[in-house]
Amino acid sequence: MASLFNRKIETLTGVGTKRAQLFNRLGVFSVGDLLTFYPRTYEDWSVVTNICDVADGTTVCIKAVVGAPFKSGYTRTSKFIAKTVVYDETGGAQLVFFNNRYISNMLKNGETYLFYGKASHTLDGVSMISPMFEPVSSQKTVKPIYNLTAGLNNNFVIKSVKRALALLPEKVNDPLPEELRERFSLCGLKYAIENIHFPESMEALERSRKRLVAEELLTLNLGLRDLKNHKRSLNKNLIETDFSKQFEGLLPFSMTNAQKRAISDCVRDMMNPERPLNRLVQGDVGSGKTAVAASVCYTVIRNGKQCAFMAPTEILAEQHYNSLKEILEPSGVRSALLTGSVKQSEKNKIREQLENGEIDLVIGTHALITDKTVFRDLALVVTDEQHRFGVAQRAKLLSKGNSPHLLVMSATPIPRTLGLIIFGDLDISIIDELPPGRQEIDTLLIDSSKRDRALGFIRKEVERGRQAFIVCPLVEEGEGDLLSAEEYAAELMLNHFSDIPVGILHGKMKAADKEAVMLQFSKNELKILVATTVIEVGIDVPNATIMMIENAERFGLSQLHQLRGRVGRGSEKSYCILVSDSSTKTAYERLKTMCMTRDGFEIADADLKLRGPGDFFGSKQHGLPPLSISSLADTKNLELSQRIAEYVIKDSNGLLDDRYRGLKSEITRLFRDTGDETLN
Ligand code: ADP
Ligand code: MG
Repeated sequence: MASLFNRKIETLTGVGTKRAQLFNRLGVFSVGDLLTFYPRTYEDWSVVTNICDVADGTTVCIKAVVGAPFKSGYTRTSKFIAKTVVYDETGGAQLVFFNNRYISNMLKNGETYLFYGKASHTLDGVSMISPMFEPVSSQKTVKPIYNLTAGLNNNFVIKSVKRALALLPEKVNDPLPEELRERFSLCGLKYAIENIHFPESMEALERSRKRLVAEELLTLNLGLRDLKNHKRSLNKNLIETDFSKQFEGLLPFSMTNAQKRAISDCVRDMMNPERPLNRLVQGDVGSGKTAVAASVCYTVIRNGKQCAFMAPTEILAEQHYNSLKEILEPSGVRSALLTGSVKQSEKNKIREQLENGEIDLVIGTHALITDKTVFRDLALVVTDEQHRFGVAQRAKLLSKGNSPHLLVMSATPIPRTLGLIIFGDLDISIIDELPPGRQEIDTLLIDSSKRDRALGFIRKEVERGRQAFIVCPLVEEGEGDLLSAEEYAAELMLNHFSDIPVGILHGKMKAADKEAVMLQFSKNELKILVATTVIEVGIDVPNATIMMIENAERFGLSQLHQLRGRVGRGSEKSYCILVSDSSTKTAYERLKTMCMTRDGFEIADADLKLRGPGDFFGSKQHGLPPLSISSLADTKNLELSQRIAEYVIKDSNGLLDDRYRGLKSEITRLFRDTGDETLN
């Protein structure tokens, strides 16, 4: 079957250049691609339901005789409408067709057909609107429905897939050896491919799907493990002495046990000659990840090597720079900030100093550190809020210099099963403890009729010396009813806070302006910060005690959790006010979850259940290879693939065994576009 991936789609009978282009648009370039272009859904014409058994709102196939001539006319909106009645032995049903003047020629009075579609119970009894129909002589099957594009219809795709299937050899090489399939009750590849397109029955479809999903997730799983284990086999930046104790002496507080554990995990990894540090430190907002990273950097620097600390935004980079400098400079650590807004001459100078080793620690945005910068002896890369990029970017980073240690920090709790996949190539330490003395955050859900009271409350807190964030959602195009950040802030300043210094922060501002505003806010010169979600990650202003979020239903729960984490960072009681006028039940349940728990993992799980995995796998951010059949939200399948992977690894001597050659090449194929060369 592998060779069919090298056979262009236009070589298939009936597919010319033009149709090939249409197929390309659907991501189908080769005959193999077409075979793995699985149906979006199916119509089950194989089971005929008696009319008397048809339940309201279900999609059914009935076998019935047309019992009356069509009656036609026009609807109030001038649509052509035609009705008739059909019968089987158990009852009658009304059929309604719109805009089809030929329907009475197509369905003959007195003849029997199969009708397929959604049925409902109306005053006239069972009724179907514009059902599909086939002569009763046609074979009763489960019919595949494909994603289509203009110019390419379902029947043509069906025909092409049939032709492609005919090219499969009698015996298809199966990447899963027979013994493995038996052990996990998975069917063979050929059977699965045939039945995923043209199922003999719904059971056959289920068996096929199970097998294909298992193979795909297994391939993903093994590929990620390969990245984690085999790729970076030696520690080229061996750290000899642990300086974490000395580092604690530089801090005004003592580390929590969870922080200490994470630090010692990292240091232990860096001292292990066999492989480098390659670890995710996952900790809820405010759990003190920066201090953990600082400690690990300190140990590296005291061992005479360099570190790069990367943040996703300039604001965060600057904030990290300021706090790290404050802690580390007294002990002689030389640090520098490298972001887009640093002057060119200054950038050049910093790069020079990095190259000749006059700077120990550089803090910046990802782009600046990865692109042109050359280091004298880069031994550690720290990246903050990492969930925003994926496996491929990590791989690229690590190709820099002498294969540095990698410490990834993420504040986005990810459901465990998804974590296995997204961070499948990393070891994990979890900081499951907040620094002592933190106050609870009270979270309230209100509708906009109570907004004035909420604003009054904010004023009171400000008068007591506290600060507040107010978040308005980003304006999406064509949404006239939502104010832009600027208009929104202007309204607040004018009508509510004319005597209070209010700042504004949004994505379209110049980096320098953003920084100026942030700086003013963190110096307590601004009391209220009206912002879009640019404040979502990382920003640390312990004196801020109120977070008010407008249109809260528009945010993912994990995002709300991040935003809420901007308050409750000092010793004062903090509040999070969610404003929402949405009346849907899901929105209400989601926002209620926010009020009930502060546990990021619980919130992540709820988000996964209520909204699916989109928030965790948004817009390619995960950097994982595209999957054609599996949903990563299906934790049962993920767990099965995990079990199979563990078995395969034991059974195959790290995939070296010849029986797994096919599986190995599947892994290469799946990862071919992630830009990681080491998997070839
Ligand atoms: P996050 O995990 O969200 O990145 P930060 O590292 O920004 O959290 O830490 C949040 C705040 O807690 C900072 O002001 C930091 O100085 C403080 N902090 C970190 N660790 C401790 C600790 N062990 N004890 C007291 N305060 C701490
Ligand atoms: Mg942080």
